Order: sequence, then structure tokens, then C-alpha cells
Amino acid sequence: MSVEDGGPGQQVVRFQNEPLTDFSRAENRAAMEMALKEVRMGFGGDYPLIINGKLVETRSRITSRNPSKPKEIIGTISCATADHVDSAVEAARRAWEQWRKVPVDHRAEYLHLIADGMRSRRFELAAWMVFECGKPWEEADGDVAEAVDFCMYYAACIRELTKSLHCDFLGEENSVWYRSRGVAAVIAPWNFPLAILTGMTVAALVTGNTVVMKPAEQSSVVAAILMDIIQEAGLPNGAVNYLPGIGSEVGPPLVGHRGVNLIAFTGSREVGLEINRRAAESVSDEFGVKRVIAEMGGKNAIIVDEDADLDEAIQGILKSAFGYAGQKCSACSRVIVLKSVEEALLQRLKAATESLKVGPAENPAVDLGPVIDEDSIERIRDYIAIGNEEATPLVAVEPDSNGDKGYFVGPHIFTGVDPESRLAIHEIFGPVLCVLTARNLDHAFTLANETDYALTGGVYSRSPVTLQRAREEFLVGNLYLNRGITGAIVQRQPFGGFAFSGIGTKAGGPDYLLQFLLPVTVTENTSRRGFAPATKES
Ligand code: NAD
Repeated sequence: MSVEDGGPGQQVVRFQNEPLTDFSRAENRAAMEMALKEVRMGFGGDYPLIINGKLVETRSRITSRNPSKPKEIIGTISCATADHVDSAVEAARRAWEQWRKVPVDHRAEYLHLIADGMRSRRFELAAWMVFECGKPWEEADGDVAEAVDFCMYYAACIRELTKSLHCDFLGEENSVWYRSRGVAAVIAPWNFPLAILTGMTVAALVTGNTVVMKPAEQSSVVAAILMDIIQEAGLPNGAVNYLPGIGSEVGPPLVGHRGVNLIAFTGSREVGLEINRRAAESVSDEFGVKRVIAEMGGKNAIIVDEDADLDEAIQGILKSAFGYAGQKCSACSRVIVLKSVEEALLQRLKAATESLKVGPAENPAVDLGPVIDEDSIERIRDYIAIGNEEATPLVAVEPDSNGDKGYFVGPHIFTGVDPESRLAIHEIFGPVLCVLTARNLDHAFTLANETDYALTGGVYSRSPVTLQRAREEFLVGNLYLNRGITGAIVQRQPFGGFAFSGIGTKAGGPDYLLQFLLPVTVTENTSRRGFAPATKES
């Protein structure tokens, strides 16, 4: 144990991860096909806000489209304004008065009910994600499993956490316990439309807070289905309020509201920092300074050492760089390869990448679905143009015929990338990978750490010395050795970064819930003098 700031330590709670669906089984494929058919029949629905359990229609609306076929409208969603923020926060504050007094076990039971609701609608939920967010089947299924995991894991964690901590002394009783913080604004991204929104929401709930839930514009229908499941679980009105809207309009009044005590955000660095600043400049009525939990972006690297197993490395790079079209915060966007193996790696990586199939996410044979929207496709194409100008294109896969005018971008790889260029530094959030060449391992670790972010990273090497160096020198929140760098599993791999990748601790880890709580220490002098009757009239 020689990691510099302290060794391994993780509290394990009794909990089992939700298994993934095995789509090699015919009955599972049939169930998914059926769900896709049924969900498609439900397209075009209308999704109002839900404040204090009541539906609220608004004049302005968001139209959610299928990124594989933008002509297809998934649904239209009401769009909150600053006035709706006031009513939602007010509803959440009123609900908090009762909700915080609900015994911990009951609150945990509600999470089990939410998890059961998701299990019973598993294929349906995955199908909504395929259509609304362009998630390929397996990615969508993994998203549901992770959402269930968050419910079950945080329910288990809160029971551990609230076992009262006593450290008594002769004549003195000491206990440490936790208060809820109040109203939590949960602001989520579209790329894990169910799991991340669920994780932040149920963490707030189980710790006794109430929630104003602001999903991303692009995934507000999936969020509405989650809201339906939450309501089905029988939570009191106002405990969770569904407040979709345009982030730049509804976000600032929500974050700055005096009734909001805590902001749980996942999304881009730009918005996360803006939220952090706004929250610091505003105050909450009860507890003054607001708490901000912000999970942000990454510019993640995989190092390929001279003695790496290249077949394994290629598998890991492909999955990490191009899974869900590179639209994961954990995605690999930089490969750092030692000069002596560069040619061998790139030759095989090129062939493997060119074999990937790009197309509509509902087709299970597809490797890369679409990117999320028109803005994304433009941004990614701009970076590809920069790559063509400043670096050397190695792979440029064009999507197959695209009669549906879907937002498809094929995988792209650039070599000869300047480590200080925009391509090497900016989070592109699409299927664009750059290759940097390292003279030796020292250089490889320097390049890997030469970014503002610190989220995920990976090393392929057969040398125990290199792997140990990686543990000590590679500055990331989640380090993966000899495997891909995406797909963290709740409890097994608590997830989150530092630097410009995150403020706060890890989602799906033992200390996550602490961020939603106020710890209180009570010390009583028990060497009583005199006697007071056991009951007092108040
Ligand atoms: P985004 O920052 O554009 O939006 C995230 C949320 O913030 C949305 O709900 C949006 O409506 C809202 N928002 C926008 N402007 C706001 C404002 N001024 N005030 C308050 N809220 C505002 O991010 P995105 O495009 O939805 O998601 C992609 C980003 O999320 C990437 O950068 C990715 O790396 C990051 N991400 C990080 C993690 C992680 O765990 N670290 C996980 C998933 C995604």
C-alpha cells in the first residue's frame, strides 16, 4: 500500500447489482422488439409539469425528437418559467416539513418501490431511451440497471449511515447523527437520462430532502416516465416536482432561489462552474451557504505501453471511445501510445474501427447510434474540420445511407495531434479520438495529466511496475488497468472525478449520501444533579 494519500478503504454494504439483460436470448430480444413497437405507438404525447402532484400546462413547449429520425416526434413537454420555479420550490419546502420526519426505513422502502417500478417497466424504459436519446439497446438496458442499482444501493447506505454513532465517556454521552438539508434542485444531463436523474433524485429523497427535478431538454420524456414511476410508488405530493424547461432560462432562478438549499448537478464543466458561482453568490433561507455537488466533463486518456496486449487494448479503446457514439463523460478521447508500438496498434485500430456499423439506435446490429441533436452534430463536425486541418486523419467512417436525416457521425481518429491543440484539450463529446505519441512512460504520464480534467483514465500494460506507477501518477478519479474505461458499476466502482471534472465525492459510493446531509454532534453531561420527573407538560 504505497499510494501517497492513504490506502484502500471502502465500506461495503449488503447489496446486489441488477443483472443486465442477455440479448443473446430470443425471449429478451422479442420483449425488446415488443417494447419498441408499443413505445412507438405512444409517440406524440403531451407531458405537463408536475408541481405538488398537480399537472401544470404551459404555453411554451419543448419538442423532443428521435435523433435517429428527427421527423419523428417523441413528445411535447411543458416548459417551466421562473414563476413555476417559485411554485415548485414552495411545494417542495412544504413537503419537506413532513418528509424529513418520515422514518429512514420507510424512506428506504420508497426507493425499493421505485426500483420495483423500473424493473416491471424495464424494456419500456429502455425503449424510450433508444428513441429519445439514440441509445443502442445494450446501453439503454445498462442505464435502467444502473438506475435500479442507485435506488437499492442508496437505500442500503442510508441504513448504515443512520446507525447512530456513539462514543461515550464516563458521565458524558456523545452521538453523531444527520439532519436533511431541505430542498434539493436536481439538474441532470441527457446522456444517462434515467440513471443519473434517478441517482441524484433518490439520494436526495432517502436523506430526507425534497426535490425539484430539472431534466435535460433532450431527455424530458424519459424523465416524465421516471416521474410517473415515482408517483406510482406513492410518495407524498411535493416530495418530487417535475420541472422540465430550457436550462439557461429555468436553471439560474432555480439555483439562486432562497428556498433551495442544495444543488445536485451533472453536466458540462461550463454549466457546472456557472452553477457553483451562482450558488455561492446566493443564500438559502434556512442554512445560508448552499451546497453544490457537481459532476462534470472529462478528456480521458488510455495509455498503451510497449508490452501491452494490443488485442485487448484495441477492444477496450473501441468500446471506450465509440460506445454510445463517444457521448459519455468517461469516454476515451485520447490514446497515448508508446512510439515503439504505435504502428502496430494503429494499423489494427484502424481496421477494427472501420468495421463499426453506424445507424438508427433501434437496430440491434448497430454499433454507433446517432448523436443527440443538431447542435451536437455541428459541434462535432467543427472539431473534425479542425482535425483535418491540424492533424492527420487515420479513420473517417461515413454513416451508411441516411434517408432519415438522422444525426449520425461516424467514428473518426486523428494521429499526429499536437498535445496543446483544441482537439487534444477540449471535451468534444462525440466519436472523435486523437492519438498522441509518447517517447517513453514518463512522457506518457505527463501527456495524460496535461488536461484540466481528472475523470477517468486507463493503462494497458503487462508490467506490474508500470501499473503501480499508474496508480500513483495518473491523476484521475477512476483509473482502469487493462480494461476499458467506461461502464462504472454502482458500489464496485464508485464514480466521479476532481479538478474540472467534479466538485464532490463519488456517485454510487459509500460517502455519496453524506453530501446531502448536515452532520450534528450532541454531547450530554449525564452526571445529573437532582431529579426531574420523567414527563413534562409542554
Ligand atoms: P449541460 O451542462 O449542457 O446540461 C446539463 C443540465 O444543466 C441540463 O438539464 C440543462 O438544461 C441544465 N442547464 C443548462 N444551463 C443551465 C444554467 N445556466 N443553470 C442551470 N442549469 C442549466 O450538459 P449536457 O449536454 O446535458 O450533458 C453533457 C455533459 O455532461 C458533458 O460535459 C459530460 O461530460 C457531462 N457528464 C458528466 C457526468 C459525470 O458523472 N461526471 C455524467 C454525465 C455527463
